[in-house]
Amino acid sequence: MSDRYLSRRVAGLKPSGIRKFFDISATMKDVISLGIGEPDFTTPDPILQAGIRSLQRGETHYTSNFGIIELRRALADHFEKMYGVRYNPDTEIVITVGGSEALNLAAIALLNPGDEVIIPTPCFVSYQAAVILAGGVAVEVPGRMENNFDFDPAEIRAAITPRTKAILLGFPNNPTGAVASRENLLEVAKMAEEHDLVVMSDEIYDQLVYGVKHVCFPTLPGMQPRTVLLGGFSKDYAMTGWRIGYAAGPENLIKGLLRVHQYMVMSAPTMSQYAALEALLNGEPYVKQMVEEYDRRRKLIVSGLNQIGLPTCEPKGAFYAFPKVSATGLDDETFCHRLIQEQRVAMVPGNSFGLGGEGFARASYATSYEKIEEALNRIEKFVRNI
Ligand code: PMP
Repeated sequence: MSDRYLSRRVAGLKPSGIRKFFDISATMKDVISLGIGEPDFTTPDPILQAGIRSLQRGETHYTSNFGIIELRRALADHFEKMYGVRYNPDTEIVITVGGSEALNLAAIALLNPGDEVIIPTPCFVSYQAAVILAGGVAVEVPGRMENNFDFDPAEIRAAITPRTKAILLGFPNNPTGAVASRENLLEVAKMAEEHDLVVMSDEIYDQLVYGVKHVCFPTLPGMQPRTVLLGGFSKDYAMTGWRIGYAAGPENLIKGLLRVHQYMVMSAPTMSQYAALEALLNGEPYVKQMVEEYDRRRKLIVSGLNQIGLPTCEPKGAFYAFPKVSATGLDDETFCHRLIQEQRVAMVPGNSFGLGGEGFARASYATSYEKIEEALNRIEKFVRNI
């Protein structure tokens, strides 16, 4: 059927490059997928049980639009304990349907038509889409491998115009694994202050870092009143299917997000809110175990890819490696298409993640150590045959 009925905004959106490869691999046998950005772990059992108990208690109803107060209180305590930043659980936190909803709420609540949002790329595929769907303009500032894919603050500064409303940061980063340095984040803070900008900081991978400290953006001097902190439980606690996330920020901004959330979804899934509460109260040892296992896989995949001749910088966060596949002479789309056809390994072409991603591919190591070993064998064969 013709898509002439679709709005220009929607018709103009590219389908996600990740889904495309997921769909291809679903039709093939014996594919090792390094393509999908979600933990291979099942949600830790106590969290699972908390969700089940909630259902058994008959908590099958809507909650407050903000989310259950117990979860908001636990989140406020969590931020204070982890980062020393305090949010008022009554007015400054809203529980959402995944970090995805939080991102879209922020975009809709903040942007007027034509407002520009500066986004360091490569980045999570939904950032540009969220901005465009909210009527804004996504202004991409590409990062470079030489800087370990941290952004260059001077380039962000150069992208500021009178239409700039916000900067959207996503660190630890999907797809590069980059963790932004405090120094660079302080530069963003300066610019935000000078140009009166809002910062949307998606910190959904905050606990998945390896040997470095994650800087929580609102903890930087003067930043809490102008930051919307976006996050969720999908990655840190292996809870993608529960669809539970949050936004935290100053009351005046959260009020706007809540208004959109109220009309769009009313409240996040109730049993998932109780499961998330358990994650915050008792999930820490499980996160630690998962981080240790990701770290083991991270070392394997990074050294393996480099040995094969695909230059890969060391990702310090999240669960992705981002090798330079153009070193083979193939562009990233061709590399990934041929790799899946010839060796049945799924990776995602870097251009799906915006400017600066061309020539690279995303390999998720949220899959078992053994599968990564086998994937590396296959990638090596593939590269030797090119
Ligand atoms: N932000 C980033 C950087 C992500 O990678 C993802 C998931 N891939 C999300 C947000 C959204 O996750 P969810 O909606 O499951 O919380």
